[in-house]
Amino acid sequence: MANKLKPLLKAAATGLADQFGPHKSRSTNPKLWVLMYHRILPKEDERFNLEEPGMIVTPDTFAMHMNDIKRHFDVISLSDWVNLKQQELPLPKKACAVTFDDGWADNYEYALPVLKATNTPATLFAVAEKIGTNFQFWPNSVLALLLNGFTTELNRHPLFAKVSSQPPVEGPIDREYAAAYIHQLKSFSDDAIFSALHDIRSADLLAGQLPNALMTWEQLNAMHASGLVVIGSHTCNHMRLSVDLNAQQMQYEIENSKRILDERLGAPADLFCFPNGDYNEAALHLVTKTYKAAVTTQRGINDANKCDPHELTRIGIHEEVSNSPRLFGARLSGWL
Ligand SMILES: [Zn+2]
Repeated sequence: MANKLKPLLKAAATGLADQFGPHKSRSTNPKLWVLMYHRILPKEDERFNLEEPGMIVTPDTFAMHMNDIKRHFDVISLSDWVNLKQQELPLPKKACAVTFDDGWADNYEYALPVLKATNTPATLFAVAEKIGTNFQFWPNSVLALLLNGFTTELNRHPLFAKVSSQPPVEGPIDREYAAAYIHQLKSFSDDAIFSALHDIRSADLLAGQLPNALMTWEQLNAMHASGLVVIGSHTCNHMRLSVDLNAQQMQYEIENSKRILDERLGAPADLFCFPNGDYNEAALHLVTKTYKAAVTTQRGINDANKCDPHELTRIGIHEEVSNSPRLFGARLSGWL
């Protein structure tokens, strides 16, 4: 019985959230929704199956979102909202800003055309030293190992052997399983994971065969030159700004990324995004000193009168939770 009820309850909750969520009702205090996207890829693109499902939205779904948000919100560039707040000027009651993390090449290929067609402003947080390189994020390298049957090599490595649920050696591994495995790995530092992957020869070979993850400087410049996309910093190397980083590394990741972007784009990078949403007191302090505002991965809608502009919450969006107007509406409620 419970199993039969579950989908019904879920559908009812989705319907209620879509119908009665704060995105549909009047607001007394000015509020800000910040939408967090990563990759925009159609299902037929080879890169679609090389990524965790929680990272992707298809171009059709993304276009639906960009039209839909105009019905509920004043769609605004995050930097405009931050400037209005800083200058204590009136803010829209219900503002919505679109953000992209990392600087994936597919954002240039598939998101920019939609932003242009719908005239939607957005912010893209770039990993400054990795733009224009063949850098692979470690989750993609791990995913490639799992999907290509290199589980024995993984399980044999002292670091990966520490993961409590080791991947099965027999049978195919799907992307959902892989995503859960990758999530467990986040208890290790980025450095430790990269160096472990470096020990596994097949990982290096596989990473060399993967399509480039990030866009080129030409593409990033074109995003910026469109007049619709503001470029912010997502550190130099996508290091999680938590306890594993020493003070010097921390300073380098936060300050040098700004220097690189300012120089390469000829415009100040005033906004920051914490990799993986991780930060400690020292990181927050330095980011507050260096940038006008910063976004986290903490879920929520920001109340302009209460929020800290350097700890802005966001609504994470991916295909499965947003591929119909009803599901997207429920997601915008911030309740589900
Ligand atoms: Zn990121």
